Amino acid sequence: MPRILQSLIAAALILASVTAPAAADFQCGYDPLVADLLNQADQARWVQWIAELSGAAPIPTAEGEALIRSRSSYTLFEPQFKPSAFDYLQAELESLGFSEGADFTIHTYDFPYSEKHPERNWKNLILTFPGEDPDRMDERVLLVAHLDSTSDQEQGLAPGADDNGTGAAGLLEAARLLRNAHFSRTINLIWFSGEEQSRRGSEYFVEDYADWLPRIQAVINLDMFGFDWDNDRCFEVHAGRMDGSQAIGHCLQTVIEAYDLDLQFDLIDDASAYSYSDHNAFWLNGIPAVMVIENFTFQPGGVCGVTDRNPQYHLTTDTLTYINPDTGFAILKASLAALAQIAGPLEGRPMKPGNIELVDGFRSQRAAPAADLCPLQQ
Ligand SMILES: [Zn+2]
Repeated sequence: MPRILQSLIAAALILASVTAPAAADFQCGYDPLVADLLNQADQARWVQWIAELSGAAPIPTAEGEALIRSRSSYTLFEPQFKPSAFDYLQAELESLGFSEGADFTIHTYDFPYSEKHPERNWKNLILTFPGEDPDRMDERVLLVAHLDSTSDQEQGLAPGADDNGTGAAGLLEAARLLRNAHFSRTINLIWFSGEEQSRRGSEYFVEDYADWLPRIQAVINLDMFGFDWDNDRCFEVHAGRMDGSQAIGHCLQTVIEAYDLDLQFDLIDDASAYSYSDHNAFWLNGIPAVMVIENFTFQPGGVCGVTDRNPQYHLTTDTLTYINPDTGFAILKASLAALAQIAGPLEGRPMKPGNIELVDGFRSQRAAPAADLCPLQQ
C-alpha cells in the first residue's frame, strides 16, 4: 500500500473517530424547552396540510382554488401539471416567513428523466435552522421525508395522503414550530423527490452534499405513519445494525416516555430493517439513520402484534379517510422531540429590538437585515 494512501486512511480514521456520533451524546430525557415546543404542535394544522397535499382540500392558486391531484415526481416539476405540490410547499414555507437563499435551498439534481426535455431535472428542498453553539453548529441533525407520491395512475391521481403526505406535512409542522426555537446543532429539514423511483432524491443528495456527510449526527426519515386501524398506537422504527442508528431508536423510546406520548413501537435493529426509503442512502454512507413508519411488517415477538399497514398505499385510494390523526400526530411529536433533543435545545437569546420581525404572529430573528447586525460593514 503506498505510504500516502496509508496516511490518508489513518487521517480518515482519526477524522471518523472525532466526528463519529457518540451514542451517549444524545440527551433525550425531559427538557422543558422541548416540552414547550411539543405544546405548540397543532394537530389540526398538520391534518390540514395532509388534506391540501393529497387533494382532499383545495389550495389557492393564481387561477383560483385548485386540487393537487398527484405528487408524482413526473408531475411535480412539469409546467402542464398544475397546481404543483412543490410550488405549494415553497409557498407555504414563504408564508411561514422563510425565504429561498436565506433559509431554504432548492437542490436540483442531475437526473434527466424526460427524453423530450433533457434539461429538466427533479428537485429536493432543504430548509436550514443554523445551530447556535460555536462548538457544535457544524454538526447536523436531519429530519427528512419524501414529498412525492405514486399510484397505478401515477400522473393523473396519486393522493398519497399516508405515503407520504403524513411525512411531508410533518416537516411543514416541524418548520412552523422550529422557527422560534434555538439549538446547539444545525437542523435540516429535507423534502426529497424521486423516492418512488428508486430513491433518486436522497441518492443524489448524498452525492451532491458529500461535504456535509461527516458531520451528520442523526437522520430521522418519516415515511407513512398515519395508518392505525386497530388503534393500538403501535408503529415501527427501522434502525438496522449500526450503533448510532439504534441510539436514535433508543432516543425515540426515551422521549415517548418523557413526554407521555402513549405510543409503542417495534425497533427493528437487525439485518431485516427495511432499506427501501430515503434513510438508506445515509446508511450506505455510515451515517446513523432510522425510518419511522406505521406497523408495516410483522415482527415475531414484537409489541405491535399483527401487521396493521395501510392497504391503500400506492393506490388512488390512499386518502385522508384512512389516516388515524391521533396516532399519526403522536408519532410526529415523538420524532420531533427526538430531533430537538439530539440537536440540543438552547434557551433563546434576548433579541435586539431592531432584529425582531413578527412573522405570522411569531417572533423571528431570521429576517433581520445584515446591516443591523454588522454596522461596521456598512
Ligand atoms: Zn413512502
